[in-house]
Amino acid sequence: MVRGPLTLKPGNFAGTLLAVVFHPGIAAADSASGAGDVDYRLQRRALLADLEAGRVARHEVCDAHPELVRVANNCDTIDGGSCPVCDRGEMALVHYVFGPRLAAGGKLALTEADLDRYGRRSGDFAAYRVEVCAGCGWNHLLCRIILGT
Ligand SMILES: [Zn+2]
Repeated sequence: MVRGPLTLKPGNFAGTLLAVVFHPGIAAADSASGAGDVDYRLQRRALLADLEAGRVARHEVCDAHPELVRVANNCDTIDGGSCPVCDRGEMALVHYVFGPRLAAGGKLALTEADLDRYGRRSGDFAAYRVEVCAGCGWNHLLCRIILGT
C-alpha cells in the first residue's frame, strides 16, 4: 500500500487521466534525511509477511485508489512482474517525480522517456516508484530514485 493519502487533483493529465497527487508518507522522513536512492523492498517484504500471517487483511493492502488503478492501466511501464497477492497479470510501475518547478504533490511520469527528460533537467529531481496491480489493487512504494546529475 502506498503510505499516506492519495488525493485527486482536478484537472486533466495526458488528455485522459486525472492527476493523482502522491504524498510520500513513509518516504517523507527519507526525503528530508538525504539525497540518495532509497529502497523500500524490506517494508514490502514485511508487509507481505504480515499479510500471509494474517496480521494484515487483504483489503488493507489491496487498497489502490481508483485513479491510481486507472493510471496503472494507462502507463507503459508494465514490467513490475506478477502481483505478490493475486499472482495475476503484470504490475504497472507508476512514477511520481518531485523537484523544482513541479507541483507540491509531484508529477506523474508515465513513461521511461518522461523519467529521462526529468533526469536531463537542471536541479534536484527525485522519482518515487510505486508498483500497482490493477487486478486486485495491491500497491506499494518500491524506491526513491534520484534523477539527473
Ligand atoms: Zn494483484
